[in-house]
Amino acid sequence: MRDLPKVELHLHLEGAAPPSFVRGLAAEKKEDLSGIFSESGAYAYDGFVDFLRVYEAATSVIRTPEDYGRLVTTVLEELASQGVIYAETFVSPDFFGGGDLAAWREYLAAMEEASARAETRDGIILKGIVTPIRHFGPERAKAPAICAAETAGEWIVGLGMGGNEAVGKPGDFAWAFDCAREAGLRLTCHAGEFGGPESVRAAIEDLGVERIGHGVRAIEDLALVDDLAERGIVLEVCPGSNVALGLYPDWRAHPIEKLREREVKVTISTDDPPFFHTTMTHEYERLADAFGWDVADFAALNRVAAEAAFCDAGTRDKILKRLEAADV
Ligand SMILES: [Zn+2]
Repeated sequence: MRDLPKVELHLHLEGAAPPSFVRGLAAEKKEDLSGIFSESGAYAYDGFVDFLRVYEAATSVIRTPEDYGRLVTTVLEELASQGVIYAETFVSPDFFGGGDLAAWREYLAAMEEASARAETRDGIILKGIVTPIRHFGPERAKAPAICAAETAGEWIVGLGMGGNEAVGKPGDFAWAFDCAREAGLRLTCHAGEFGGPESVRAAIEDLGVERIGHGVRAIEDLALVDDLAERGIVLEVCPGSNVALGLYPDWRAHPIEKLREREVKVTISTDDPPFFHTTMTHEYERLADAFGWDVADFAALNRVAAEAAFCDAGTRDKILKRLEAADV
């Protein structure tokens, strides 16, 4: 499973920071983060509210463009070691100088440079999806959308939206998504994780997204499931994240298999892997255990993910060729 070439579409950059990286930065900055780690050095939290506290504390030490460049290097080393050949990561200009365009360009340059170095070294390709934070509200979503639009192209390929799904409605953020669409960016949005099927429908109809972050709760409305299949909407499914946060009691109860059976385009990602004590290999192994999926099933899912990637056609061809070359 580890050697199988993988495509990952749903990964929060700060959420992918290994505990050792965060501890190193905290030590350099003389900040005490001892309260967020277990004895074995992993992130430790108890329930969703505590998870948010630990996540916020851990990511608070990642601040400068240089920190972000180092983070990209570290994350891509880890992903490459899991067989990932292409990934898209969520990045939030809100955390990079408060949505200021000049500051954003400095952060972007550092991240692009680090990802170019990783591509040369390990052949892994990374692209960025700019992510307004939903619970900051629609007005504050405009600045990141403008940052995304102004820097759309080579590395920034899409706009997504993360944050608390309980705040507002997707349609409230239409301005940000229209701005990104006009700049040629591709669109995705978190929905159907903590929100129900209606949140998935709203993201598709009111924002015109072609992918949904999570979207698993669509399973509660089979008419919607059929609609997703018919329209070819792609779900960025993160099973380990859903199980860790208690959406489903265990892997066998996760709806990814049912969604796939009903011909929804599902893909597999890790969301915030070290926080959920997972990796892409771990996800594949658990899914193989739960549903009897084999290498051919995973290869098919990776082709779906490559087709759904927001990158340019040349990059997509490159990824598809690498997937094909590994086919047995
Ligand atoms: Zn996410």
